This record gives sequence, C-alpha cells and structure tokens, in this order.
Amino acid sequence: MDDDVLSLKKQLLEKDAEIAALKNKLEQSQKENSLLMDLQDQVSHLAHLQCTSLSNDAIMRYSRQLLLPELGVRGQMNLLTTSVLVVGCGGLGCPLALYLAAAGVGRLGLLDYDEVELSNLHRQVLHTERTQGLPKAYSAAQALSRLNSTTQCVPYHLQLSSENALQLIQQYPFMLYCSDKYHLIVLSVVLSLNVCILDYLCFMYDIVADCSDNVPTRYLVNDACVLSGKPLVSASALRMEGQLTVYNYNGGPCYRCLYPVPPPPETVTNCSDGGVLGVVVGVMGCLQALEVLKIASGQKSSFGQQLLMFDAQDSRFRCIKLRAKQAGCVVCGETPTVTELQDYESFCGSAATDKCRRLNLLFAEQRVSVQEYKSVVDCSTPHLLLDVRPKVEVDICHLPVSINIPLASLEDQNADHINFLKEKISELKLQMSSELQVPVYVVCKLGNDSQKAVQLLEKMSGTELERITVKDIIGGLMAWANKIDPSFPKY
Ligand SMILES: [Zn+2]
Repeated sequence: MDDDVLSLKKQLLEKDAEIAALKNKLEQSQKENSLLMDLQDQVSHLAHLQCTSLSNDAIMRYSRQLLLPELGVRGQMNLLTTSVLVVGCGGLGCPLALYLAAAGVGRLGLLDYDEVELSNLHRQVLHTERTQGLPKAYSAAQALSRLNSTTQCVPYHLQLSSENALQLIQQYPFMLYCSDKYHLIVLSVVLSLNVCILDYLCFMYDIVADCSDNVPTRYLVNDACVLSGKPLVSASALRMEGQLTVYNYNGGPCYRCLYPVPPPPETVTNCSDGGVLGVVVGVMGCLQALEVLKIASGQKSSFGQQLLMFDAQDSRFRCIKLRAKQAGCVVCGETPTVTELQDYESFCGSAATDKCRRLNLLFAEQRVSVQEYKSVVDCSTPHLLLDVRPKVEVDICHLPVSINIPLASLEDQNADHINFLKEKISELKLQMSSELQVPVYVVCKLGNDSQKAVQLLEKMSGTELERITVKDIIGGLMAWANKIDPSFPKY
C-alpha cells in the first residue's frame, strides 16, 4: 500500500514538472507571436522615412559612430532615412542586416523564399534553433527587431523569378506582411504594367544588397537595379574565398557589363555542394554592410569599378580593377534591348534557388531509382556500387558496400583510380557467369555528379570497362536517406 502511494506521488511530481514545462513553452510561443504581431503592425504603414533631428535616444544609441567625422550627425540622419532591400537572408544577408540595423538604417526589406534549417545555423547567424522551420525573412525580422526596434523590418517571404512573380502577386494581392491600402494600389498598378515584383521593390528601396547565391537571381537583381537606377552592393562567398563589388554605381559597370553571358549551369557550384566556412561568408557580409553604410550615409564606395577578393586561407585581400561600363551592354548600354525583366531561369538554364539543382543528362534506361537499387541489394545481385563524391564527403557518410572514386579522378583519367576500378570489375567478373555484363551503379549526394560519371564511364575504353553496364542512382544518397534508410545521415 505504502509502495503504491509512493509511486503515485512520484508520478504526480513527474506530471507537475511536465505541465510546468508545457506552460513555459506556451508562454514563450505567445511572447513570440505577440512580437510577430507587433512587427506586422509596425510595417503595415510604410511611410516615407523622415528625420529632421536626432532624438536623445538616438544620440545615445549611435554616440560611438556619431563621433566619427566621416559620419557625424548628417551621416546618421542619412542612415535613418535610408531604406535597403536585402535579397537573401542567408550567410551574407544575416551579418549584413545585423550591422545595418545596429547602425540605424531606417528600413530593411528582408527577402527570402526559404525556411530556416539546422544546416543554416553555422553561418546564418540571425536564425536560431528556435526559429527552425520559420520563413527566414520572418526569423531575420524578429532577431533584428530585438536588436533595434527603431529600424523598420519588412519581411518578404517570396521567391523571385519573372515566371512566378506575377503569379505571386495575383495569389497575394498584397505582400504578406505589409497589407495597407497604399500597397494594394501600387501593386495593382504593377500588375497592369506587367512588371516583376522585384522591379517594384527596387523602386521602393534606396539601395539593394544582393546576398543571393545563384546566377539567375544575380541577373534578375542586376537588371531590376539598372531599370530602377539603384546601386547594387553585391557579394559572394564559397569555400574559403569571397568577392565584393558595387554595380550600377557612380557611372560604373553593371553585372551584365562584366558577365554578358551566364556560365554553363553545370560549372556553377554553390554552398550546398561546395561548402563554405561560416566566418568567411560572415566577413563578406560585413564588408558588404560597410559599403552599404558608406553609400547610405553620403560617403563614397570604392568598389564601383573594383572587385575585392578575399582569400581566407592566406588571410589576404586583393583589389582588381574591373572593366568600365560597356556601351554595348544590353541593359545599361547606349541602346539597351533589355527594357523589362526577363525569364532568368531559362536565360541561365538553371533554377533560381540554391537547392536541388537537378541535371538531366541521361536517358531513362541509364538510371534506376533508390527503390530499384534497394531490390538489387536485397536480392544480393552481384554488382559494384561506385561512389563518385569527393573523399571529404565520403568521410561524412557512405554506404558500406561502395567503393569511392571521385568524379574529378574520372575526369582526369587518374591511372591509379581507373586501375583500381578495373581490378574490382575483374574480381566481380570471376564470380559471375562469363557472358553477363558487370552491373555498375553510380551514386553521389544528389544524383548530378553520378550522371556525369556514367557518361564518362561509358566513353572509357579497356577490356574491363567494356564489360560493364553502368547506371546512375536517381537522387543519390539523399534520396536513399529520404526514401529507404531514415537513419542514413543527411548533410
Ligand atoms: Zn551593363
């Protein structure tokens, strides 16, 4: 009896603790919701930014930068009346927006189509474990409002592309979080003029910061800035390197003056397949913020016709003079042919996102699904599984039966690696009846490099390599993790 009472008491205590934890969670989420509501209220009346004098609070808050002769009261008042559109709230956009809000930029438009994921947090320092799953635009606006409640943050949870821009406007007759009458009217005008939403946003903001990470968006943002006459502060970072330029500024070139033709899509690497160190992209975001602040406060940026290159491995900065604005540029030249925004995804041959860039290089009969490959494994059919990812990725995770030969080694015809492959094929051949071809399945992370590898292997000569049938595993190891083995790590 006593034992029963004790055990019940213990259970009661546990339940009490559980209830307390739940209450706590509820309070926290109510607090966050009210912050969100405040935010919506705050941005629902976007007016012209004005500042005739600095308040005592502003003098105190900005006192350390007011002391700089380069900035002073005039510069600070310029910052307070400047609006900046931040395109992309990721690794560049987060540190950039953080410093712009801290310095007192009047309004920040925060544009991002994506939601916060765990793999973002090592570099996208405005987002937190708690905001996982929230739109990045939202998460960023929340964090910035906590830092400086006098900076207006306007989140736009939108994906930019000329194709979907109009559709988005039609679906949402007003932008998600700034739903006042003024915007409704402006947007219906926009709709009738057949202008992209970005074009409209660029008109609304004084300076645009391109913090995106894909080629179509770079062209799209560039053209929108040229058409609306706004300076474009642009940065990028990949692996251990970063770059920075200001386009369409002070008679300097635009992005198209320098890159009239987009690079072939298969040559473009982004952070999700190239990797990047958080602090490297952070350094570039801060430098980008510095140029925005200089332009906004009335100083000059030095990067109107200059490219800043940061080599994080050697801790070295270099400046390269860029070619001048081109008279023949199709958008900013003397007789422009691009007078409205185009379809940039088809112009560049790739999607305007950083994820799931899917190549389609093979015929259907050259590919198998992860389910089909699973049945090959289940039936113990003799085969070779060739993993063509770089070694650094194979170290993260791999299927135990696979052999690793990186795509780069196949491209370079690395003799050691090719001989290793030939040996493996010969070994397998001995186990099989002589007339059968050796099945080789090629896998990588997402199923792009593996397709290139299939093409390369089919072209290679040598007795062993002529006795194989080679197939690509669609969607790669991430499809394996999603559809076959949930315990397989995703990265
Ligand atoms: Zn140009």
